[in-house]
Amino acid sequence: MFENLQDKLDRAFKVLKGHGSITEINVAETMKEVRKALLDADVSFKVAKAFTDTVKEKALGQNVLTSVSPGQLMVKITNDELSKLMGGQAANLDLSANFTIILIAGLQGSGKTTFSGKLARLIKSKGKRPLLVAGDVYRPAAIDQLKIVGEQIGVPVFTDYESKDPVGIAEAAISRAKQEGHNVVIIDTAGRLAVDEEMMDEIARVKAAANPQEILFVVDAMTGQDAVNTAKTFNERLDFDGVVLTKLDGDTRGGAALSIRAVVDKPIKFIGTGEKLDAIDVFHPDRMASRILG
Ligand code: GDP
Repeated sequence: MFENLQDKLDRAFKVLKGHGSITEINVAETMKEVRKALLDADVSFKVAKAFTDTVKEKALGQNVLTSVSPGQLMVKITNDELSKLMGGQAANLDLSANFTIILIAGLQGSGKTTFSGKLARLIKSKGKRPLLVAGDVYRPAAIDQLKIVGEQIGVPVFTDYESKDPVGIAEAAISRAKQEGHNVVIIDTAGRLAVDEEMMDEIARVKAAANPQEILFVVDAMTGQDAVNTAKTFNERLDFDGVVLTKLDGDTRGGAALSIRAVVDKPIKFIGTGEKLDAIDVFHPDRMASRILG
């Protein structure tokens, strides 16, 4: 069993109390515990260090040294700060426009197609009429996969097995959506196993042509530090609007959420919590903070 952070900090303070008054050095010691918890959760060292420095300052400002239960207060401050760093409030999608185009980007295997289906299902349940678009021109299997997803949730899927032109597909799908009275278009794009120039160029061209209101970057939470680097590269090219963190049903603590937020400064909007199409949640920074700290 892992000892949770609260226990660790309580224990640290108890030892310290035995030595007389709690000092700034003791607070620094407990911050080391917090930093360890963050590193265990896959948060990058730089982000963890910057974070604990901030918390330390806050803690001293809030007179943690004279508090009756300093461990508890430290955990509260740490939780609150962590939650604040990840956006504080849950960020949502704005679907108030008459017609919304959403572009889904990410590496192959990150969970893009599954998420596209989950999002379409969610949007449909809110009374909208989504159209899914199969934009992966390289893998017929990916097009089939999206078609199956669409059938499962009763959402039509735009496909063109002959075309090798994702820009043309996006444009054709958007005009079809308008003709047929859809009000949300979700474009699932091709992903590669690693970021490459060709892929980035292609998705940038799809963005320019489709002019989406929302670009969501999908990333596998289990990939830890790699997730941060991928997010950075995609953000530099696409300037995306939000992040989707998938596979949080696995045994990852999800520290990637904190690192990504700190590095690209874009909100995490959704999380994927399973393979099924209803396994989607709006991202709640406070819940994530508790999960990361353990
Ligand atoms: P894509 O290549 O980015 O389109 O990725 P897929 O949507 O095909 O997903 C890759 C694999 O991850 C599939 O086996 C999905 O079932 C699985 N997957 C996607 N999202 C989640 C999730 O939130 N949790 C789990 N456990 N598996 C997921």
